[in-house]
Amino acid sequence: MSSATVVNVDIHGLLPKVASGKVRDLFAVNENTLLFVASDRISAYDVVMQNGIPGKGALLTAMSVYWFQYLKDRIPALQTHFISRSLPQPLESSLERPLYDTLKPRSMQVRRLEIVPIESIVRGYITGSAWSEYKQSSTVNGIALPSGLVEGQKLPKPLWTPSTKAEAGEKDENITPQRARAIIGDERVAADIERLSLQIYEVAASRAEEARIILADTKLEFGLDRANGNAVVLVDEVLTPDSSRFWPKDTWEEHLGKAQPSFDKQFLRDWLVSQGLKGKEGVTVPSTVVEQTAQRYRDAFEMLTGKKAEDIS
Ligand code: ATP
Ligand code: MG
Repeated sequence: MSSATVVNVDIHGLLPKVASGKVRDLFAVNENTLLFVASDRISAYDVVMQNGIPGKGALLTAMSVYWFQYLKDRIPALQTHFISRSLPQPLESSLERPLYDTLKPRSMQVRRLEIVPIESIVRGYITGSAWSEYKQSSTVNGIALPSGLVEGQKLPKPLWTPSTKAEAGEKDENITPQRARAIIGDERVAADIERLSLQIYEVAASRAEEARIILADTKLEFGLDRANGNAVVLVDEVLTPDSSRFWPKDTWEEHLGKAQPSFDKQFLRDWLVSQGLKGKEGVTVPSTVVEQTAQRYRDAFEMLTGKKAEDIS
């Protein structure tokens, strides 16, 4: 694994850049294919930090690839955007070694699709924004729940709790399933997204359980294959520490009613809050926080995939 931390992915104009998100840069391979490149950038509270987390992009890509295969093997109806881990030709042969080493472990080729403009979130446990809403109204995304739940508790059954997919700089907003169906606009597409999301959660949560990890919640995105009867396709990253909350199972019970330790950026979030830097632009994260965050990402990867972080290539 390359040791340099890559915050700006520069491929020197070798492929046209299509978009840059908070973490990823997307390049056009051709009309139907994207090179989907995960940088080492990290965001918290919707703001990207100045410095990155070494190895993070490669870990996110390897973890997503692992899950795309794992899920496809268990959910026959599932289509994913994943095409391959190789770099496209002629790009690959034209790259000098350092750029190849930077690009290869963090990239995958994917089908270029129209993105359905909602975040398809599934929650098996109550925390975060769902816990905030529940405390106010005993509901989550407008869905009534039994009274007396405590923070971190398992929900009676996993819930589909979609949110809007906000423009850059805006905040995603939780919405009712009915509102999400209206935004999606096509009943069959909405039903497919809800059903597949719940199936993906169930399959992933039981895999995580074997590794003594609780999958508290996860955020999925879907695309539409216009050329193929508007088939619903799983896109983006899947079941990574950026898109999911992973909690160690063995300490879950003792932390019920308060925040759970987790294999994600909670450590960074807590540091930002403690320094009064929540939501501030231009923050440089100190090396101890960078290293501890990197360690949590590596732990999540290794526990869930059974592979070694240093073997990612
Ligand atoms: P945003 O871009 O909305 O700010 P983000 O910061 O999470 O979200 P990244 O994860 O950095 O974004 O970049 C991934 C972007 O690529 C997302 O906007 C996602 O919707 C989009 N995307 C994912 N898969 C595909 C695909 N197959 N085709 C086209 N776009 C995709
Ligand atoms: Mg994203």
